[in-house]
Order: sequence, then structure tokens, then C-alpha cells
Amino acid sequence: MTYEPVIGLEVHAQLLTQSKMFCGCGTRFGLPANTQTCPICLGMPGTLPVINRAAVEMAIRTGLALNCRIAPTNRFARKNYFYPDLPKGYQISQYEAPICEHGWIDVEVGGETRRIRIRRAHLEEDAGKNLHDAGGGSRVDLNRAGTPLLEIVTEPDMRSADHVVAYLKALRDMLMYLEVCDGNMEEGSLRCEPNLSLRPAGQQAFGTKVELKNINSFKFVKEAIDYEIKRQTKVLSEGGTIHQETRLWDPEKGQTAVMRSKEEAHDYRYFPDPDLVPVKIAPEWIEEVRAKLPELPAVRQRRFVTEYGLPEYDAGVLTSSRDLADYFEACVARFGQPKTVSNWVMGELLRELNQSGTPAGRSPVTPERLVSLLQLVDKGTISLKVAREIFPELYASGASPERLVQEKGLTQVSDEGALEKMIDEVLTKNPAQAAQYRAGKEQVLGFLVGQVMKASGGKANPGKVNELLKRKLSQ
Ligand code: ADP
Ligand code: ZN
Ligand code: MG
Repeated sequence: MTYEPVIGLEVHAQLLTQSKMFCGCGTRFGLPANTQTCPICLGMPGTLPVINRAAVEMAIRTGLALNCRIAPTNRFARKNYFYPDLPKGYQISQYEAPICEHGWIDVEVGGETRRIRIRRAHLEEDAGKNLHDAGGGSRVDLNRAGTPLLEIVTEPDMRSADHVVAYLKALRDMLMYLEVCDGNMEEGSLRCEPNLSLRPAGQQAFGTKVELKNINSFKFVKEAIDYEIKRQTKVLSEGGTIHQETRLWDPEKGQTAVMRSKEEAHDYRYFPDPDLVPVKIAPEWIEEVRAKLPELPAVRQRRFVTEYGLPEYDAGVLTSSRDLADYFEACVARFGQPKTVSNWVMGELLRELNQSGTPAGRSPVTPERLVSLLQLVDKGTISLKVAREIFPELYASGASPERLVQEKGLTQVSDEGALEKMIDEVLTKNPAQAAQYRAGKEQVLGFLVGQVMKASGGKANPGKVNELLKRKLSQ
């Protein structure tokens, strides 16, 4: 018997608002515990929440980009449960009336386009964090309590770990393009919970699903899903049954383990929050947000292929983040030669950016500076080799390429007199190779060019050297 995996995803995206979902407290990560709190997000009795308009607008932006219907009226509900990091005893979320519904996103998997339907996306507030001391005590940090989240839920439309990774990557790129989420999985600003079941190949009805939690990187997404597919296949092939439960991924062991079973699941007793009025969204507001949507990554990737004639691969890498794509286009606008620019951006620049964990928008080598460097190569002032060699220094110092080249005396030697002197020396030192070339063995030219380049400390203009050497040798 072969089984087909069926997977749906719940993703929580922390929205990049200045303030929290229902109060004016800030949302910055990593501040001292409980310094971003007020009576509202501390859950004090008698306080009243006020809806953050920026969070609602970000939900509309995301909903539109995900091809969702934006509900003209949506409503917040109380999801009741007790936990120390939730001082009110309930989380404000959306239940029967979410802000976004019925969308889709197309993703590329193995050269094919696959449509993943979005069931809903709703607004809610985050809980705080419990900090467990080594000594056994626990403390609560409520800085995160009340931070706005958008929970994006798909239909069970994925069939493999590769589908899930492709969807998650496309969704993350999109959220970052929209500037609604920073996409940081390690810090928890993007959290992903796959739901996974198996069914016998060919069967319509879905099997019993398991929900997976505690996955905070793309690597773990793939590992956890592949592990869970294997585990469920084994259980079913041995005649066992899958129990509906929540399982935690253990990255150290590379396994999932039961966190809670369906019987232990909470009954949240959802009901409309009486402290908040229903949210009415005027069609004009939706159209205003739609008009401000940026070009989305998939569209931009296609345009990079058609407009700049770039290979698919380059277009994919360059559009993987909005500011990298902006960087590339800023260079091309000044310099042209898209493929040359692409090679530099994907090679030298990305290597430095990745090493230092810097986004392209904050690169010490600005597009203007990179273009100056490319122009120095283009004009023959420096060789390509020198340009590549000094790039890390340009990146580290933020210096202007012209100045660095001048200071270090790296200007390429194109002066015929100077080059001829070096060539004469090389020919005197290598009479055998010179004779071989004259006897018709043209491959030795490369060797001789190499010797001249070496003698010049890499600064000779290789085109010129080639030309002069040939002329000399044929005399
Ligand atoms: P719950 O109430 O347990 O959260 P939902 O029906 O709301 O379950 O679905 C949560 C997620 O699980 C959705 O992304 C949905 O697509 C997915 N899902 C639902 N049923 C299955 C199934 N049988 N197998 C895999 N995924 C499923
Ligand atoms: Zn607050
Ligand atoms: Mg669920």
C-alpha cells in the first residue's frame, strides 16, 4: 500500500507595526523584560482595547496580495484559555468573521506551478513568554503580549515537504515585499505549523491529521515533515491508527513527540469580544490599499527575465528580497549590462552581505559605488581581476572605488611603452616558449601572457598584452 501525504499550513506572521494590536506599547524585540507593557497588555481589569488601524491595513494588504476577499465587516472574538503568559485569560482573535478569506498563491515546485488555496487570514494578538530558569523557577515577560499577528491558514493542498517549503518561501518573500513582516523564523516573527495526514493513494477522503509545532527554520520544516510522513506510514502499514494530536518537533533528536492529544485539546468557548465593535472596511479603503501594492516577487521575477534577458536562476535569486531586487535595478539604471551587474550582485555582493548578515538596502557598497567600480573595469582603468580582489576591501571600508584604486596604485597598465618593456623581459627569460610559438605552437601564448601579467603584478591590461605579444612574436 502506498500513501499520499496531505498537508495544510497555519502560519503566524508578526506584523511590523510600531505599536501593539490593542494598546500604544511598542513592539521591539529583545528589550528588557516587561518594559513594553501597560495596563491594557498586562490584562488589568477595567481596561479597554483599541484596534490598531495600521495592523488592519497590513492585513488588507496581505489579503489582497494573497487574492483573498476582504470582508467588509469582520469581528474580533475571545479565545478563552488559561496560561501564565496570557494575563487576561483569553486571547483576542478572530473566529467566525475573519478579515480575509478564500485566496490563493501560485508557487513553483520542480518546474511546475501549483496553486495553494488560502482558507483565511485573521488578526489576533500574541501572548507573552514564559522564561524558565535553570534553578526550576519560572518568570513571565509580557513585552510580546498584544503584538499583532496575522494567522494565515491554507486548505490542505500540499502533498510533500517540497510543496510546503515552496509555499512557505513564497509566502515569506511576499510578506517581506509587502513590508508587513520581517520574515525572521529564528526570532519567531514567522511561525509555521503544518497539519499532516496520510491517505491510501487514490482515496478521496482525508485521513486523521496531526499538527506539528516548534519548527523555526526551513531546514526543520523539511525534516519534520519527512519524519512525520515516515512515522505515519509505518503506523498505518502495520495496521495501526493515527490519533489526532499535536506533536512537537525535536531538532536535536530529529523526531516529533506528542505534546497533547485531541482529548486534552481546549474548548476555547469563542464568543464575540463585547469590548470591540465590528470592523467595517469601506471599499474605498480597500482600493486605496490595492493601489499602493508593490510589484510582487513572482511578477518581478518574470519581468527580470523578459526585460533584462536574465536567466531564470538569476531572476529568482535577485528577486528573493525586495531590497536586493531594488539594488540590482538601481545599478542597471546607471550602468546597463544587466548580466554583468547580475554576476556581481549574485557573486561578490551577496557573498559579503550573507557573511555579515546585512540586507542589500544597507550595503556599505551602494549601487552608485558598485557602478563606479564596474565603470573602472569598463574603461580599462583596472582589470576585472583587480576589481574582484578589491571588492571585499571596498565593502569593509565603504571607500570610493576611484580613491582606493588611486591610493593603492592599482591602475591598469595600458601604456604600450611600459608593456613592451615587460614583454621584452619575459621573452628574453623564456626563449624556448617564444621559439615554440614562432614554430606554430600557438597554445604557448597563454603561458607568455601569464608571465607578463605576473611581472606586472596583475596590473597589465590583458587585452593589450595579448595584442602586443602577438605583434612582437611575429616580427
Ligand atoms: P483545527 O481546527 O484542528 O485547527 P482546521 O480544520 O482549522 O483544523 O485546519 C487547520 C489546518 O489543517 C488547515 O491548514 C487545513 O488545511 C489543515 N487540514 C485540515 N484537515 C486536514 C487533513 N485531514 N490533513 C491534513 N491537513 C488538514
Ligand atoms: Zn500595552
Ligand atoms: Mg489548528
